[in-house]
Parts: sequence; C-alpha cells; structure tokens
Amino acid sequence: MRRLKLHWQILIGIGLACIAGTLTGTDAGLFGVTYYQAYDFIGTLFLNALKMITVPLIMAAIITGIAGIGGEAGLGRLGVKTVLYYMLTSILAILVGLALVNAIAPGIVDGEPAGPRLGLAENTEAALQGVEGRGAGDIAEVFLRMVPPNIIAAAAEGQMLGLIFFSLLFGYFMTRIQPDYAGSLKRIWQGIFETMMKITLWVMRFAPIGVFGLVAKTVSTTGFAAFVPLLSFFVTVLLALAIHTFVILPLLLRLVGRVDPWLHFRAMSPALLMAFSTASSSATLPLTLECVQENARVSNRISSFILPLGATVNMDGAALYECVAAMFIAQAYGMELSFGLQFTVVLLALLTSIGVAGIPAASLVAILVILGAIGLPIEAIGLILVTDRILDMCRTAVNVFSDSCGAVIIAKTEGETAVLSKEFAETRG
Ligand code: ASP
Repeated sequence: MRRLKLHWQILIGIGLACIAGTLTGTDAGLFGVTYYQAYDFIGTLFLNALKMITVPLIMAAIITGIAGIGGEAGLGRLGVKTVLYYMLTSILAILVGLALVNAIAPGIVDGEPAGPRLGLAENTEAALQGVEGRGAGDIAEVFLRMVPPNIIAAAAEGQMLGLIFFSLLFGYFMTRIQPDYAGSLKRIWQGIFETMMKITLWVMRFAPIGVFGLVAKTVSTTGFAAFVPLLSFFVTVLLALAIHTFVILPLLLRLVGRVDPWLHFRAMSPALLMAFSTASSSATLPLTLECVQENARVSNRISSFILPLGATVNMDGAALYECVAAMFIAQAYGMELSFGLQFTVVLLALLTSIGVAGIPAASLVAILVILGAIGLPIEAIGLILVTDRILDMCRTAVNVFSDSCGAVIIAKTEGETAVLSKEFAETRG
C-alpha cells in the first residue's frame, strides 16, 4: 500500500483534533487524566523535538550555505535581493490589510464604534502578562539581539537572530583561513548538516500526531463560540491573508520567479500545515528548509541564507495582522482615522514585524507598541485576544509561505533552473 503523503497525514491530524478538542473540552478525562493533559503532553513533546533540532540545523545550514556562496560579491548581491524582497512583500501585505480594514470597517457596527458592544476581555491583565518577554518590537532592540554577548546563551534562549548573525560570520570567515583547515571545517559542517536533515525527516514522521496534540489543545480551550462577536474582524484578517497568499505572492512567483505557483503550494504544503499547527515560524523552520530544498529544489546556498533570516525578520502575515488589529481597535474606540494615524500604523507594523519573534502570539507585543504610539490604552488589546490563537495559526502559515516564495524567486533570479521545474513535478506525481 502506498503511504499517504505527509501533508494529507497532517491534515487528517488537524481534522481529528478539531473533532476531539470540541468533544472533550478541557475537563473531560479518563482515570483521573484529562484529555486536555494528554493533548498538551503530545503537543509539547513534539514541539520540544522541533526545538531540539533547530539550533544545530540552522547553524549547519547557514554555515555551509554561506561558505558555498563564494566571496563578498555573491553575498552582497544575495543580501540586497533578500532585503528588497522582505521589504516589498511586507509592505504589500500591510497595504492589503489596510485596504480591507478600511473597506469592511469591522470596528464599526451600524455606524457606531463597536467598542462598548464588544466589551473588554476580563482576563486582559493575565493575558498581558503572558505577552511580556516575547521579544520587544523596536528596531534598536533588534540590533542588540543580533549581536548577542554570549552565543551559547543566545542559542539556549532560542534567540535566533544572534545565532544567525554568528553563523553568517562563521561561514564567511571559515573560507578565509588556510585551505586545509577550511576544507576540514567545511566537511565537518556539511556532515552535521546532512545528519540534522535526516533527524528532521525522522521527527517529521511524528508530525501528524504532534499536530493532533497541538490543535486539539487549542480547540478544546478556545472553542468556536467565542468568535461570534468578533466575526467581522476575524473575516477581515482571513480575507486579507488570503489575498496576500493566493493573489499577491503567486503573482510575484509567476512574474518575477517565472514558476508555477501551484507547484510551489504543493511543494510547501507540509511546512504550511506545520506552521498552522504550531503557530511558530521558528519551530517550523526545519520543515520549511526541508520542503524548499527537497521539494522546490532550491539550493542550500540560497535557502539557508533566506529562510532562517526570514523566519525571524520577514513576517508578512504578522505585519498584515498588526495593521488590521490596530486599525480595528482604533475604529472600535471611535478614533478619527486620519492619514497621519494610518501612516503611523503602517510604518510601525512594518518595523515591528521585523522584531517580532517566530513564536506563538509574538505579534501581540508589536500591537501593544502600535497602540501606545497612536494613543490607545494597552488594555484595548483585550478586544482581540479571543481570536488571537486561530489567527496566529493562519498568519504564521503566511509568514512561512512568504519566506519560501522569497527563496524560490531569488534562486530563480540567480539562475537556478532546477527550481520547481515541470519535469521534477511530473516525477513526483
Ligand atoms: N506566531 C507568529 C510566527 O511565529 C508570529 C506572530 O505573528 O505572532 O510567525
């Protein structure tokens, strides 16, 4: 019997989790153990496994990738293209969000600001505490995190930016030492990289079960009823994310990358479902790398440069969400939506999305920064907490998808012909 493809397995895991989570809720159990605890255990175990492989995988991927780029010119060119791509797609995402939130106006009901009807979430205080320590959103902070005083501590705390910067330096200077040392080092890192990719593949075999645990846990706590009052906000975000994912990015793939977007969706489907289930770009990174290299056929040289960096700094979904959420709250509070206010929101959404970490709920910190800047009380964030987790799952998938599109587009502009080639698609069926 042919084994079901990974993305189908994950999808089934998600479907079963929705059913199980709704049926059991948080309190039902067997022999004194609640189902919720079981979901939590499975999900955490799987997330731990993903986090376990991240540090060595990312280091090895970047070091071997940079060492293979060859010289300053190659690195400079790739760097410029990458930054341009990150900026362009984030701005496009924010503008889509801004257009929709103005058109639909989810914060205004029957011509009145919706604030009083929605009421603030009672547990705002507790939620705000949960948000603390998720990484600040301002730019100076980003640079400070980029150069960590202690690389081991940065790795231990999952500060990816510092780790990425160190690995970039290491890969670059590794090629500038005596050739025999450089050669041995290259072989060692290449070996580590291959080994880590094998471990990743093995961990992924458990993805459907892990995903089941993660999603069932979310569904059993959140339920679906809580969404009703926020439905139009929810729909606005989903619609904007969908336009960015199914119109804007495919257009870029088609026009700039000259590839079939559908093939790319297929190549990335396991990573997208994983991003959806974990709500963390960083935890998804091993699978993103795997899909971009093995399925989309982008070289390690390019993918290992763009993807780890993208997982922390390029967040289209988060940027879009921040803009829509801040505007929604401003609408609900009856603020005048002047050009200045909208411009501030757009600019801050762009800048803070760079600083947002690739972990669940990280955007909430950035939204706090924006609310403060436009003169709203930070408690106002209570309005959107109920829907945050599900929207987080969706925006994380968009974050990951945009990174992967960047890898494909840049690889094509660098002359990689194997990327998403038709022949390759046919052999994979
Ligand atoms: N959870 C998102 C990610 O990891 C970040 C966010 O928007 O909260 O990509």
